[in-house]
Order: sequence, then structure tokens, then C-alpha cells
Amino acid sequence: MNFLSTRGQTPATSIDAALSAGLAPDGGLYVPESLPALPPQPAREDLADTAQAVLAPYFARSALRERLPELCRSAYAFAAPLRALSQPDDLLLELFHGPTAAFKDYAARFLAGALSALRAPDAPPTTIVVATSGDTGAAVAAAFHRRAGFRVLILYPDGRVSPRQAHGLGCWGDNVQACRVDGDFDDCQRLAKQALSDQALRAAVPLSSANSISLGRLLPQAAYYAHAAAQHHARSGTALNFIVPTGNLGNACAALVAQRMGLPIGEIRLATNANDTLPRYLDGADYAPQPTRATLANAMDVGAPSNYERLRYWFDGDASLRAAVHARSVDDDAITDTIRRAPQRHGIVPCPHTATGLRLLEDLRAQGDRRPWAVVATAHPAKFDSIVEPLVGHAVPPPRALAESLALPASASPLSADYAALRERLLASAG
Ligand SMILES: *Cc1c(COP(=O)(O)O)cnc(C)c1O
Repeated sequence: MNFLSTRGQTPATSIDAALSAGLAPDGGLYVPESLPALPPQPAREDLADTAQAVLAPYFARSALRERLPELCRSAYAFAAPLRALSQPDDLLLELFHGPTAAFKDYAARFLAGALSALRAPDAPPTTIVVATSGDTGAAVAAAFHRRAGFRVLILYPDGRVSPRQAHGLGCWGDNVQACRVDGDFDDCQRLAKQALSDQALRAAVPLSSANSISLGRLLPQAAYYAHAAAQHHARSGTALNFIVPTGNLGNACAALVAQRMGLPIGEIRLATNANDTLPRYLDGADYAPQPTRATLANAMDVGAPSNYERLRYWFDGDASLRAAVHARSVDDDAITDTIRRAPQRHGIVPCPHTATGLRLLEDLRAQGDRRPWAVVATAHPAKFDSIVEPLVGHAVPPPRALAESLALPASASPLSADYAALRERLLASAG
């Protein structure tokens, strides 16, 4: 299998080269040349086994082919349970059981393992530049922490992540450096993209990306959709529909990949926060990226979703994209209201991102929809304790791994939202 750029100006390349490069040289995003249909999958007990089956076609000609089982076992080392909520056919896909309590742990760990395995032993160290609206940076830092041959530079918008998220970005030390950028997430993303497309810089400082624009983040995320859908199908004989809280559209594109690969997935609906670039477009407006607005679901504060380029690539024009993908925006008032009522209505305490998905589910039920829907729980509520606890009126204890990182000291250095400053920082770190 070859990999192409969404912009069509890059020669077809191998998965190994696409993983290492992050962004395609023409500035586009790598996509597989096809999304191969898998034969019907048995419902496996172990998420790592499903991941291996889903990823195998993409790695058929990779130098990592033989190591895929081992890579999957170490990346998918924690469960992604599909749990029943209070009402019939209301389900929750819990993706927050990893070290940083958000779904990004799975793919970050897979990517870290893959890049390590691809690395020549005598190569100079690679710096992973990662723009984050809160959770990506922590997942990538945890995955690459103390990995030989890698450094991590995290760019996050100062003051726009929760206190616990900020802690989770700045607590690593060693080969991980956190920068709080004087700007919003789109600034951070622009800076990271600019560095990655600066060929002169890359000649001096080997760089790679671990953002959701990286192919090595996208494909591994298809595994948990495949796993949940196969399990649901084995139990009920029906396809499972998903509601995916979305910002940069990475996790949503992964759901689409799993659906296209023929897994028993029905509809996919997307929930955004007040950053409604995508719902507006899907409702018929021109596609118009907006400045980012700060919301309670901050990991979804994205006004210009970068994976939109993949979505465009996979659909033939506006009409077919609009027919296949539905999205709705959920504002902060609705998020607050959903969290407050969730213990009673659903039997859980959701994080603000998960709450956007629950809101869509509630609306579907109010319209009489009786199909099985799984809302994707993207993070553990304890990561957003300052928002969630006052609404539900009790403490939400952090899971063990999160509690451990909260006990470490944390620090981040300031950086202006200006490419020259980042470039200088990267050159200095390599010197
Ligand atoms: C990153 C993140 C999202 C959005 O995921 P995308 O892949 O960017 O759409 C949603 N919720 C949480 C908790 C996140 O960390």
C-alpha cells in the first residue's frame, strides 16, 4: 500500500516514510491510497488484537510488519470499554483509561513505538514538535518521555488549557519541553506547521510531527471503533452508530476510516463546541474557518480543523460530504446543562467534551431515534475538575496515572506566537 498527499503534489510513498515525515512535503496530509475492506471480524477480547487486524493492511510492506503485534500490544495496553448508560441502547465508548486520561494516549503510544522502531541507531535526535489544545501534548509527552533519540517540544495556548492539563504538559522534564504560547491553538498549530514545512530548518534540526495531522495518529485511532463495533455486532447483530466529539477532526476521520473498511458501523455524527466551522459548512454555508473561540470543551477549541483536508479528499464534492457526515454545535450553556443532568440521566459524570456528544444523543432520543448509539468519551472528567465538580456537586477522583503525574512538579517556558521565536528555539536546542 502506498500513501499519497491530500494536495496531490507529493509522489506516492511508503508508510514508513509517511510516518517519519508527519506532514507531506507539499504541505498536505498523508492518506492511504485506498481504505481496504476487511473481511468480517470476529469479536476479539483484546483491543490490541483488533488493532493489529485493522492496521495490518497498511503495514503490509512496512519494515515494521513483523513488529506490528508487539507495537499494538504496547500501544493498546489498556482497555477501551463499551459501557451501557442508563437508557436502552445508549452506550459510552470510554477512551480515557490511558496514562493521560484521554483518547490520544492510544495513537500517541503507537506512533512513539513506530518511530522508535524505524529510527536508525546512529541518527541524530529527532524533535517532535507538537501543537496542542491541551491533551495531545500530554499524550505525546507521556509516549516519548525518556525514549532514546527523541525530544519533544510542546506548544500550547497560554491560559487556555485547564490547570490540570497545564500540569500534564509541564510535568515531564528530561527530553520533554513545554512552551506556553502567547496566542490560541490555531497559532500553535500554524507555528508547528510552519516549522515542519521549513526545509532549511529541518536540514539543521531533524523534526517530526505527532499532531492529528500525522498519519501515525490517524490510523491507530480506527482500532477502537473497529473493536467496539465488532463487539456490539457480535452481541446484538446490529451496526453501531457513533457520536464523536470533535475539534481537529482527527478522531472523527478515524471513525470514518473504520466505517470505510467495512466494520459494522452505521452512522457517524459529530459534536463540536461553539467553534462551529464544520456544522455551518455541512448545513450548506461556504467553508469558512473562523478565529478560535475559547469554550469549556477546550481540547475542541479549533476554528480551522486541519483534518478537514482529509475529509475533502475522501468525498467527491460538497454534496456527497454533506450527505454522509452530520455535525452539530453545542454551546457552553448546553455543555453545562448536560454535565449537571448527566448523573441522573445517564448514570455518569462526563468531561465537557464528552458532554457535547451526550447532548447530541439526547436530541436524537427526543426525536424518537431508537438505534444503538455510542458516545465517544474522549477524556476522564477528573482532568476538568474545575468545571465538572461544581456542576455535579461532588469531587471526581482522578484515575491513578493522572494522580501520579499531578504529584510531580511542572513548568513551561513562555514563547511569543511568532515563527522566528520558535525557529530560534529549535535551532538552539539542536546546538
Ligand atoms: C483532542 C480532543 C478532542 C478532539 O479530538 P480531534 O481529533 O481533534 O477532533 C475531543 N476531546 C478531547 C478530550 C480531546 O483531548
